Amino acid sequence: MKDHSPHTANIGKFQDRFVTADGQTRASVALTDPKTLWFNTGTLCNITCANCYIDSSPTNDALVYITADEVEDFLDQLAARRWPVTEIGFTGGEPFMNPDIIDMAERALSRGFEVLILTNAMAPMMRPAMQTGLQDLVARFGAKLTLRISVDHYSQKHHDEERGTGSFTKTLKGMEWLRDAGIRMTVAGRTLWHETQEDARAGYAALYASHEIDIDADNPADTVLFPEMDDTVEVPEITTSCWGILNKSQNDVMCASSRMVVKRKGADVPAVLACTLLAYAREFELGTTLEQAEADVHLNHPHCAKFCVLGGASCSA
Ligand code: SF4
Ligand code: SF4
Repeated sequence: MKDHSPHTANIGKFQDRFVTADGQTRASVALTDPKTLWFNTGTLCNITCANCYIDSSPTNDALVYITADEVEDFLDQLAARRWPVTEIGFTGGEPFMNPDIIDMAERALSRGFEVLILTNAMAPMMRPAMQTGLQDLVARFGAKLTLRISVDHYSQKHHDEERGTGSFTKTLKGMEWLRDAGIRMTVAGRTLWHETQEDARAGYAALYASHEIDIDADNPADTVLFPEMDDTVEVPEITTSCWGILNKSQNDVMCASSRMVVKRKGADVPAVLACTLLAYAREFELGTTLEQAEADVHLNHPHCAKFCVLGGASCSA
């Protein structure tokens, strides 16, 4: 697995939870409006992508399969804590490797939540038991269930560079099956290839049209384009004064509206993390209950700066 400690470009920074390297107060984010509770279903995946943010592979079981009963316990906590969550998300690894995925989704849908499952739509999803389970869920819950399919690039060439030869064809086959089953789909792509958003979205639109798949390529919620996570770039630390300088609200950052539940290998019970982006950074583990996870998150990681707060901007005064 990759070393996830800060790269040499950031040495001296991101050390103290409360104070930045130059002695300023580090920014923190409160859980002001919980909208989504994520469950990591386990880090095992059927493939090994070149730039997987969580280093999933057929052998990485650092996060083990969470069970339907463990998920149910957190759904009970959501009710008890009165979090106004409307959506339950499942991510991996590949969620359809987890034998409980249909059961977990069913329990969340039965309580009235919208359910989002992130998948590569390859062999694990195409197993007969999973197909039957998905058909049953869509018959009962319709558009409350969405699968977000990872299509790194609209061309076979670039997608397969990331995901391995033959991946593109298999994922498209999975999407065609979902299309025919009437299951709502969105797509997660990546912006690794230095093309404009406009070109990328035009490429996805042509891909969807050629497979008669009904996804809006121009809607950023339906075709989500993620930037590359490069740990080696130097990033500034985020201080409390950054919000004003950037004219940005803390409420816009993902950890103001979501948490992720994971089960670490060897752990007796699941843990709740600040967000989906920092599965291995222990400092972002907030406890084992949703009550403990109501704590503020201190933005003590380069990802906080690069992906969530700055997004290409700068907050130097
Ligand atoms: S399919 Fe997703 S989880 Fe699996 S290795 Fe690729 S990016 Fe990671
Ligand atoms: S990377 Fe940092 S700022 Fe972004 S959601 Fe996670 S904890 Fe919050």
